[in-house]
Amino acid sequence: MIISMKKGAPQEEINKLVRSFEEMGLSVTTIYGEDYNVFGLVGDTTRVDETQIAVNPYVDTVTRVSAPYKKVNRLFHPEDSVIDCGGVRIGGQEKIAMIAGPCSVEGLEPIVETAKAVKAAGATMLRGGAYKPRTSPYAFQGLGTEGILDLVEAKKATGLPIVSELMAIEHLDEFVEYVDLIQVGARNMQNFDLLKALGKTNKPVLLKRGLANTMEEWLMSAEYIMAGGNENVILCERGIRTFEKYTRNTLDLSVIPIVKEKTHLPIVIDPSHATGDWRLVESMSLAAVAAGADGLIIEVHPCPERAWSDGAQSLTPEHYASLVKKARRIAAVIDREL
Ligand code: PEP
Ligand code: MN
Repeated sequence: MIISMKKGAPQEEINKLVRSFEEMGLSVTTIYGEDYNVFGLVGDTTRVDETQIAVNPYVDTVTRVSAPYKKVNRLFHPEDSVIDCGGVRIGGQEKIAMIAGPCSVEGLEPIVETAKAVKAAGATMLRGGAYKPRTSPYAFQGLGTEGILDLVEAKKATGLPIVSELMAIEHLDEFVEYVDLIQVGARNMQNFDLLKALGKTNKPVLLKRGLANTMEEWLMSAEYIMAGGNENVILCERGIRTFEKYTRNTLDLSVIPIVKEKTHLPIVIDPSHATGDWRLVESMSLAAVAAGADGLIIEVHPCPERAWSDGAQSLTPEHYASLVKKARRIAAVIDREL
């Protein structure tokens, strides 16, 4: 961290500040100029609050040089993390995970049927929401525990590990028992109590990027889970809010190379929620594979026009099968498989 003091800051004030940093265990290098004095702080600055330093009336600028996240940072963990999700390994040079299924679980028969269909099309994991974060309180809210148990049956029938969204700490035990990869939805990315609770488990977590969150905020949320002791975190980009209205959200594919440079965590892309339109899902999936995504999570429904939620962005199993075939060819170009 580099701190530049205002012109004419009294020596006494400079000494006070230097002492406070030294008391935090940081080593301070000072450059005394004719007009300005600059400090360089070296050591663990993750606990230093730069906005608090900037409150000092004699401080001119505070610049953070190192990232505020540690566990997530590739600097301290150079090799790619590979996360085992009920037998499917995600990250590194592992096969690209193909997660597919309906937005919401709609009952036992439908989920078993969909699981079989997506498996036949090439999916390696099954998704399905049992607790749904709906904008309207009058919209379908999910089948709850029944939905989770239906997913378990679909897993038994197909062998596909399951992904489902956890919305509240009160359901954590149920998820730890039954779900292979626990999704934290975009709306809960900064539900810090939920993140802390997940940090105390060792279950893989799929952490979606918030609707309007920066990469740094997203990585700090991953840091919350990891700081609690759970290192099994997978990031998921699902589009962010912009001024554009042609698509439900704007898919930020540039996060793939950035996440890979800054962190060692796997990154999965959700082209369904990112675009909100099934017609755009295939091209965005192929682009994501080309850009190095470690997985794709895609909404698939046997009859999208009758889906209980997100039908407009759901693919039929036939479309999904054709997408998988094309994605395999793109993956081969970058020496990956799916
Ligand atoms: C979902 O996966 O169905 C979902 C609601 O996702 P998001 O949190 O990205 O909106
Ligand atoms: Mn959905």
